[in-house]
Amino acid sequence: MNAENKKINSFEMAKRQVDIASKYLNVDPGSVEKLKHTKRELIVHFPVKMDDESVRVFTGYRVQHNISRGPAKGGIRYYPDLELDEMRALAMWMTWKSAVVNIPFGGAKGGVQCNPKEMSLREIEHLTRRFTWEIFIMLGPEQDIPAPDVYTNPQVMAWIMDTYSILKGYSVPGVVTGKPVELGGSLGRFEATGRGAVITALEALKYLNKPIEGTRVAIQGCGNVGGVAAKHFDRLGAKVIALSDSKKGIYNERGLDLQRVLDYKAKYQCLACEKKEESEITNQELLELDCDILVPAAIESQITERNASRIKAKIIVEGANGPTTPEADEILNDKGIFLVPDILANAGGVTVSYFEWVQNLQELIWSEEEVLERLTRIMQRGFKEVLEISLSKKIPMRTAALVLGIGRVAEATRLRGIYP
Ligand code: NAD
Repeated sequence: MNAENKKINSFEMAKRQVDIASKYLNVDPGSVEKLKHTKRELIVHFPVKMDDESVRVFTGYRVQHNISRGPAKGGIRYYPDLELDEMRALAMWMTWKSAVVNIPFGGAKGGVQCNPKEMSLREIEHLTRRFTWEIFIMLGPEQDIPAPDVYTNPQVMAWIMDTYSILKGYSVPGVVTGKPVELGGSLGRFEATGRGAVITALEALKYLNKPIEGTRVAIQGCGNVGGVAAKHFDRLGAKVIALSDSKKGIYNERGLDLQRVLDYKAKYQCLACEKKEESEITNQELLELDCDILVPAAIESQITERNASRIKAKIIVEGANGPTTPEADEILNDKGIFLVPDILANAGGVTVSYFEWVQNLQELIWSEEEVLERLTRIMQRGFKEVLEISLSKKIPMRTAALVLGIGRVAEATRLRGIYP
């Protein structure tokens, strides 16, 4: 593998972010070092009986980064080239994210190295149930609460909840969030991350004195986060000019007919140019489009030192976790691009996950209006607090968000002290 293609190590990237932010924090070096380590890591290798009766061995992970402020919280990802360091980075970002929006959770992440696109529903169910059994010792509403992430969904959460409940002997809805509403999922959870990202985009536009109407938006990824964000931008009068999935993107400079595009994607599991004004583009071309807002909403390390200088967007709203490397951050910053960082922009998911967990523990059901009103308030407060730090310390929005998040976690750790 040459240097150009070398996979960027997300954990190294996340640790560098801690070093950058800790320059602005009054935290002793030992505590900074602790924050750069995860708390617990479980690696499991487990067999699954496939549809053709063969047995395949899969590798899965659950990593808890920090639980100083509350139970560990973080998604479960099914992805072919999943690695432990990626899990560590994503768990760390969950810790900072919960702290940025001031929610009493720590950070975790997990997943299985697999390609769900090549598996039947039955195989995915068997994999999910066995994986839940394997990581059972780490899970629980007071210990560690998974949620959906890339290539997992409410159905996968339902299987995790069911398996965990069977092992306990009674129903435990609070062990996962992002469940189907019928099983205690929260109204508004499915839409929460994409919606939250759009709320922060609106705040960014307000701060920069720009209207939403006619704003040209390009979105990488059209899954839970990207697809929902696209719908909300469209509803608010913005023009979604490009959208992509893992294979390709489609582009129409006058704005995509979004409902038709998303309906086609839902029906055929792919994007297609059905109109002559639409053209096919690559994921890399999408990132470099001339647009007002760019929303990376797929996977990590998409904006790097290789393409950052060619990014033309005025605002970047990070729907995905870790889409931008620290080297790219410097380039974007020099170009004057206003960036809403991941640990703020996509915090809507963990925020409504928190609402779901609270409803489960209290056996309450909130209305969608109530969820949305609380989500909006928390996202706007998070944006305001990060912007204030950015302006007062004259630091980029990402560093400001890390200062806020890491600062809160460090203070909680200081107050709790070191045992014994
Ligand atoms: P998803 O599985 O619903 O969608 C993922 C999208 O990314 C799909 O459109 C897929 O085609 C695309 N994709 C996958 N691999 C790609 C590649 N190599 N290049 C380009 N596109 C690719 O997942 P999601 O839940 O929408 O998650 C997307 C991002 O948002 C992830 O970084 C995730 O960690 C983050 N996130 C998700 C949530 C949530 O609530 N689901 C919350 C916070 C952050």
